[in-house]
Amino acid sequence: MRVALLYPEVYDMARFREERKEFPPFGVLYLAAVCERAGHEVAIEKVTPDRTRLDLTGFDAVGFSLASSATYGFMLRARRQSAIRDDALVMVGGVHCNFYPESSLRDFQAHVATDGESEETILALLDQHRGGSPANVPGILYLDGDQVRRTPRRPLLRDIDALPLPARHLLPREDIVISDRLAGTDLPMAHVMFSRGCPFPCSFCAAGQTRIQYRSGASALTELEHLVEAYGIEGFAIVDDNFIVARRKVGDICDHIAHLRLRWSALSRVDTVDENLVARMARAGCIEIKYGMESGSEQLLKAMRKNTRRAQIKRAVHMANDAGIEAKVFVIHGFPGEDAATTEETVSLLQELGATVSRVSLFRFVPLPGTEVYENADLYGVRGTHLQPDWDGDWEKFHIHHNTRRWWGNDQEWEEIETSHTRLRNFVESGWNAQG
Ligand code: SF4
Repeated sequence: MRVALLYPEVYDMARFREERKEFPPFGVLYLAAVCERAGHEVAIEKVTPDRTRLDLTGFDAVGFSLASSATYGFMLRARRQSAIRDDALVMVGGVHCNFYPESSLRDFQAHVATDGESEETILALLDQHRGGSPANVPGILYLDGDQVRRTPRRPLLRDIDALPLPARHLLPREDIVISDRLAGTDLPMAHVMFSRGCPFPCSFCAAGQTRIQYRSGASALTELEHLVEAYGIEGFAIVDDNFIVARRKVGDICDHIAHLRLRWSALSRVDTVDENLVARMARAGCIEIKYGMESGSEQLLKAMRKNTRRAQIKRAVHMANDAGIEAKVFVIHGFPGEDAATTEETVSLLQELGATVSRVSLFRFVPLPGTEVYENADLYGVRGTHLQPDWDGDWEKFHIHHNTRRWWGNDQEWEEIETSHTRLRNFVESGWNAQG
């Protein structure tokens, strides 16, 4: 079958003011890879706010990847404005769809919405489209007349090593190899994904509370060797939400790839690293660990369910430095309960860390759909979600980039948030030169 997979363009979120390319859409790249391996012909189409009118009449199946809620609106426009054959199978999936599959199914007038990991599901759907029934495909929602039916959940893949390499060849080379993205270097690099999921419960994050699955060291090595050979990379960034959870698995990957002498970076919590592992990562070429510091206020760290402490943040940063690895930190400002005092705690922690931190990325709090805060907005005093009575229909506002919207608090509290955010931003920009 001829299959089109559509994904929304999103921008890298690490810079203060600059819009730049995000990493490739791994969700559709893996789906495309399994479809190609099964003999289907696949095209990947990027949708942007200015590119929503596509001619998809040449395809037997069309899948919309709802990768974020902020891009839901223009993906929906793409569904309404694009030409799709009446007999084509229309599917929706992706992060937003996993949280809200029923509304996604209805809004997109899709035949099916996938629920969770979809590599096996999409193959089964393409097979059944030749004459079966969606009722026999686990892991989906589908419309039966006006009724939405849900089939049993599909268990997570037992072995993600069994997946083919992501189908990067379906994207332009410049979307794969980038040279301004690895820890302040200009090395030609690519992005990779070595694990899926994160078991932690941070209330602001949509990635948590899922079982983490790792690829083996051998599988990671195969992909990197391919990237060196086909794209000439000299470095890579691991995009996994939280790479360092299972130290044995991370160590296995490090030991397998060390001889390639590539430079790389990864994200981590501050409380899952230890000296041994960090030294192993350094030997394997790691030059930057990006830590989710979030705040210098332990009260806020607790409210965020991050449950880390200032001492752990300092220890993790120093541990990286001692191993010769740069430490970058992510900071979130404006979580419910933030005020001038908690902001000063963040400033003071950054002051203490000083030059031991090489880069800082400062974000403003946004209640991302699917998170604990979003689902329990009233409890956190948050307004503006689609689960509340005064929903305005605007999904684009859940954009983590430059978001100045007032999500909670009265006028006075918000004024304090604005003032303290300016104070923190100026402090970060003066110390770290507004870098990403
Ligand atoms: S913020 Fe990091 S540790 Fe927390 S749930 Fe998200 S990915 Fe996991």
